[in-house]
Amino acid sequence: MSKGLPIKHAVKRTVKRCAMLLGPLMQQRGVRILTYHSVGNRKHDMNVSPERFREQMEWLARNAEVIPLSAVLEQQEGDQPEQTLERLPSITSTSTTAADTAPFESKIQNPKSKIKGARRVAITFDDGYLDNLLNAAPVLHALGLPATVFIVAGRVGGTLDHDDTGDGVDTLMTWQDIEQLIALGLDAGCHSMTHHRLSQLSEDEQRSEIVDSLRLLRERTGRQIEAFAYPFGSAYDYDAISVRLVREGGYACGLSNRYGVNGADCDPWQLKRIWIDGTDDLCTFQAKVDGRLDILSILDSQIGLACRHALNRLLHIK
Ligand SMILES: [Zn+2]
Repeated sequence: MSKGLPIKHAVKRTVKRCAMLLGPLMQQRGVRILTYHSVGNRKHDMNVSPERFREQMEWLARNAEVIPLSAVLEQQEGDQPEQTLERLPSITSTSTTAADTAPFESKIQNPKSKIKGARRVAITFDDGYLDNLLNAAPVLHALGLPATVFIVAGRVGGTLDHDDTGDGVDTLMTWQDIEQLIALGLDAGCHSMTHHRLSQLSEDEQRSEIVDSLRLLRERTGRQIEAFAYPFGSAYDYDAISVRLVREGGYACGLSNRYGVNGADCDPWQLKRIWIDGTDDLCTFQAKVDGRLDILSILDSQIGLACRHALNRLLHIK
C-alpha cells in the first residue's frame, strides 16, 4: 500500500464533510448510478469492505428505488415532479432512523411515501474483481437488488496492468465465475479489452478495445451485453472517437466515471456516475445517494481534475 494512502483518505473525508455543508445548494434531480470496484480486502483507494458494503445495500433496499442499469434511460421519462429530493427527511448521522427500520413492504404499500422513488439508484461495479462474486453478489441476491458488473474482456481470470499484484486480492473473475455471477441475477457490461486509457490510443486500437471486447463477451457469456464503461472514465480518459465507437458499436449506452446525476437531458453515451470508495461511511454514502454531495461534480472540472492528479503525485499514488 502507498504510504500516502492514509493521508489521501483523510483529505477525502474532510472534503466530503465540508461539501455536505454546501450540498443543498447544488442538489440535482435524476438517477444516480453508483460505481464500486472491489468489495473485499484490497489495499486500494477504491476498495469497500464487505461489512460496509452490506450496510450500504441494506440501507438502499429499505430507502431507495434500485433499478437495473437498462432501465435508467426509461426512468428519465417517468420522472414524477412531486418526488423532489427537497422533501426528503434529512439524514445527518449514521444512527438508524425510524424510516430506516420501517418494514420494507409497508413503504411500498404506502402511497404517501415518496422516499424510495425520489432516491432512484442503479448499482455498477468496474473491472470484475473476484471479490464481487464472493462478497457482493450474495448480498445483492439476498436483497433482490439488480446490479451490473463491467468486465475487462481480455483480462478475465487475470489481473489489470495498473494493479499491485502478488497477494492474490487483485484477481479478476474467470469466465466460470462470471457465469455464476449471472446465475445470481447480476448483469454483465463491457469495460474494454485491456483497460487502457482510450484517449491515448489510435482509432483502430480503440475499435479493438470497444468493439472486439463486446464480441468476445457476447460469445463467452451468451448474453446481450448492452453497456460500455470507459476505462478510468474521467473526461481525459476517453475522447470523441471513443464515444462514436461505442454509439456505433452495438451498445445501448456508455458510462463515464464523471461524478454526477443523470437527469432528463442526460447524454446516454456519457452517463455520469457516483463513485463509492473506502472513505464513505454510512453518513456520506446516504449524502451521495440523496444528492447532498452532488457538489462533488466540481471534482470533474478542469481545476478539480488538476487538484486530484496533483494530490496523487504528491502522495505517490497511482
Ligand atoms: Zn476500470
